[in-house]
Amino acid sequence: MRPAWLEVNLDLLADNLNLLRSKAGGVPAIGVIKANAYGHGAVEVGRELLRLGVWGLAVATVGEGRELRKAGLEAPILLMGSLHPDQAGEVIELGLIPTISTLESARALDVRARARGRTVEVHLEFDTGMGRTGFPVEDANAVKEGFAQLAGLEVTGIYSHFADAEGNTLWTEEQIANLAKVQAGFGPDYFYHLCNTAGTMNFPRVGLAAVRPGIGLYGLLPGLGLKPIARLLAKPTLVKQLPAGHKIGYGGLYTTQSKEWIATLPVGYADGMPRLLYNRATVKLLGTVETRLGEVETMGLECPVVGRISMDQITVKLPGPVGLDTVFEVTTADFDPTSSLWGWAELTGTVSYEPAVRLAARLPRVYLRGGVEVARVEG
Ligand SMILES: *Cc1c(COP(=O)(O)O)cnc(C)c1O
Repeated sequence: MRPAWLEVNLDLLADNLNLLRSKAGGVPAIGVIKANAYGHGAVEVGRELLRLGVWGLAVATVGEGRELRKAGLEAPILLMGSLHPDQAGEVIELGLIPTISTLESARALDVRARARGRTVEVHLEFDTGMGRTGFPVEDANAVKEGFAQLAGLEVTGIYSHFADAEGNTLWTEEQIANLAKVQAGFGPDYFYHLCNTAGTMNFPRVGLAAVRPGIGLYGLLPGLGLKPIARLLAKPTLVKQLPAGHKIGYGGLYTTQSKEWIATLPVGYADGMPRLLYNRATVKLLGTVETRLGEVETMGLECPVVGRISMDQITVKLPGPVGLDTVFEVTTADFDPTSSLWGWAELTGTVSYEPAVRLAARLPRVYLRGGVEVARVEG
């Protein structure tokens, strides 16, 4: 296996799911695994979530749905976003539940469903305030009548999405009230869902049929009791001592101050490490290092990333020589400001979603349950 890999802890995934479900009052969860399960590997994470009893899975693209079907996952798969009419046929072939927010896409889907002698299950999205996708709330009655004419479609679910459940209580409550108006118009016989992670954690009284968390499953929001489930690990391919005044990496952005021990780790920006992190990120050394005081066992000693982040490699400064079997945490499963996915996001002015989804497909992924490897996907 490549000496750089993502280790995913399925016990922590279960802990996060259980915390979200308990916040939600025990209603079912739709496991959001778009963007390769936020970088964690959609097939394995999806399989585990189903084992843990989620209602179904949610993806953002038809291709993501196809990957799950090809892997043999037979659960309900909600295709989020507004269905484009061009994809109506594929959605039916794959047995996905598309989200409809225009009558044009509804008609395209209806025509193809009836041509196949089928009834296709759909969820409707309403725009309760975010302004991105969904039918206008005011049109609820017209939408209901419109769908009654489309014999090839069966509306089973109705939902909306929060714009700022992490920060804006008034706006979020307005969105909750707007979905309640839709609910009043359509009646109780539908599967209503609304809460993303922030909604589930901050508005536990919403109490609809299900919650729809993504980021919280992966534990990447701090301060809520959720725990990051993955570590990016690497072994050095080279350990050497450089003399004082030696430049390191593209552009020579770091120069050794004295004799320095340097390890080269085989991960880079093509694996998802932001190039902007040069001279700012750290990695954590797990193992033994030789120092002037002799061999020292380290548990997570901080080693600075020095010089530019290359496409495939980084260089880190060590307190002394280490063997090539030494494991480094390139990302830690916590909220460390310089070595976690959350820390990378903070350092580069974004949210933890972004470095997570950029974890490259070429990284092998190793899945642990009870500390034991239960699955491995080669990069
Ligand atoms: C991504 C997404 C979610 C999950 O949101 P998180 O903030 O990751 O919990 C839920 N619903 C929709 C419609 C989404 O696009």
